[in-house]
Amino acid sequence: MNEEFQDHQIRDVIRINYKYTMGGQSKFFIELLNNKKLLGTKCAKCGKTWMPPRINCSDCYAPADWVELKQTGTIEVSTIVWYTTSAFIKAIPYGIGFIKLDGAETALLQGIFSENLVPSKIKKGKKVKAVFNKEREGKMTDFFFVPEDEYEKWISKPEYEGGK
Ligand SMILES: [Zn+2]
Repeated sequence: MNEEFQDHQIRDVIRINYKYTMGGQSKFFIELLNNKKLLGTKCAKCGKTWMPPRINCSDCYAPADWVELKQTGTIEVSTIVWYTTSAFIKAIPYGIGFIKLDGAETALLQGIFSENLVPSKIKKGKKVKAVFNKEREGKMTDFFFVPEDEYEKWISKPEYEGGK
């Protein structure tokens, strides 16, 4: 009898409970979670406004102070996402881009959603506005950007709302 060897396999699950910290940038996430504010930082020495916030200025290394930024901004560069992780699979296709918020000098990488997602809707120079999940967790996925002319439509959906 010539039986081919077959190993015995059992499906199982590994579950890992853990927590991680946002460290010195925690204030950004706490204000996002509780107050729908988008905070950047402004260098106390050279005055550069950072978004995403930097605790110390990356140009001159001086400490930076928290500042509230506007929730409107301009797309610097973008693309349309067709392949992603399981966490975002239901949103495909969606836009992603670097957005310079009004008042900031650096750009934030964030999702850009549109009801009519075509490249011209999310191209460089287009104005966007932040929309927030009603159920927030204090994570980057608590908000996203939409073209300014779609803002009212997005915040009227039951799961989303406008910021401050
Ligand atoms: Zn500086």
